[in-house]
Amino acid sequence: TAPLTSPDCLFCKIVAGEVPAEVVTSTDTVVAFRDIAPQAPVHVLVAPRDHHADVAQLAAADPALLADVVRTANEVAESMADGQFRLIFNTGTHAGQSVFHVHGHVIAGASLGWTPA
Ligand code: 5GP
Ligand code: ZN
Repeated sequence: TAPLTSPDCLFCKIVAGEVPAEVVTSTDTVVAFRDIAPQAPVHVLVAPRDHHADVAQLAAADPALLADVVRTANEVAESMADGQFRLIFNTGTHAGQSVFHVHGHVIAGASLGWTPA
């Protein structure tokens, strides 16, 4: 069955292969690709193939798919770093969300400070 999509969504186009991205790994349900503006040695975005606007909507609509995102985030950190990682879901414009197709930022590969704001 075709994935849920939203017109003119950048990450729908990336997961469909219609916009190029440096894909790290993918499964039937999620795609992991490098952030175009990395903020850490490893900065990978994990997005479900289905379009959901943010992590709260994903959790409500398809919790198993959210688990797939987390599982793939761990696999990315295992393969590209030491297995330790931060997983960030910016949720809402005030939190810095700019692409409204849910994606977890996998941040890894360095000893990370904690400066949430
Ligand atoms: P947000 O701010 O929504 O949490 O995260 C969006 C992220 O997507 C940003 O870190 C930004 O650098 C990244 N980004 C925006 N456009 C593109 C793109 O065309 N390709 C890739 N690989 N990353 C993008
Ligand atoms: Zn989308």
